[in-house]
Amino acid sequence: MVFEVTTLGTGAALPARGRYPTAQLLNVRDELYLIDCGEGTQERLRMAGVNFNRIGRIFISHMHGDHYLGLMGLLSSMHLQGRSRELHVHGPADLKEVVHLQLRVSQTYLRYPLHIHAVASVSGEVIMEDDRVTVTALALKHRLPCTGLVVKERAGLRSLRKEMLPVIPAYRRAGVKQGEDLLAEDGTVIPNAELTLDPPARRSYAFCSDTAYAPELVPFLTGVDLLYHEATFTEALLARAKETLHSTARQAATIARDADVGSLLLGHFSSRYKSADVLLKEALEVFPRTLLSSEGATFKVGTRG
Ligand SMILES: [Zn+2]
Repeated sequence: MVFEVTTLGTGAALPARGRYPTAQLLNVRDELYLIDCGEGTQERLRMAGVNFNRIGRIFISHMHGDHYLGLMGLLSSMHLQGRSRELHVHGPADLKEVVHLQLRVSQTYLRYPLHIHAVASVSGEVIMEDDRVTVTALALKHRLPCTGLVVKERAGLRSLRKEMLPVIPAYRRAGVKQGEDLLAEDGTVIPNAELTLDPPARRSYAFCSDTAYAPELVPFLTGVDLLYHEATFTEALLARAKETLHSTARQAATIARDADVGSLLLGHFSSRYKSADVLLKEALEVFPRTLLSSEGATFKVGTRG
């Protein structure tokens, strides 16, 4: 079952050659979720061959332009394409007003139902739950209210043990997969553990952008399989990171190490770095399972071991 993230944009606020502002496409069992929507996101989605209609939900972390200025363009294109499927957008309280103002002054009456949900930036609070994932908030440390995400797969069904198939009547199989015991013909109870195998481990992905170093997030990130954490600067610019409430690559790696995550994915690179290798090198000194995001690259979210 697919669970993967494509980084559509890896740059920070200012444009840099070859980099785009933050946007990520999360695919969980073939349903698409968009995380942030910087300028040019719809073009990036086109390049990735993504049908906009497959996106059911969009999460916006905060109201800095490099994280949401692509949203109106994408909403308009969905309208022009005749979308009828409803769309849910989860973001800061101010987002609704901004979107509605732009729709009003352009006299655009969307063809599809648009639901904009205000997200409270409280770590551990559930933002959204559907049949695939549970999404909880992370209160990031930034100049504006900024919300990160932990996206955790919902538990799958137990699978039937092959050797037990002959004793499980077809009409009982759905119940047994959900954990029910079985009453045998002779009246004895066969416990579920003898009939089934555990479901696959639940995979999880966390998104932390933008944020200053925030060790208070560690308990909420512990054990996630893939952590995306911004790494705007190197340690040489620690003072600048503190002033702008961003993180260094070393700080991102420290969070990954302390939360014992499966892998760390770096992004939100300052335009001053022509190559992000210097950020990767710094993070690797603290946390060896570190990867660099790049435009259009896809990373599998997998369980460890
Ligand atoms: Zn920001």
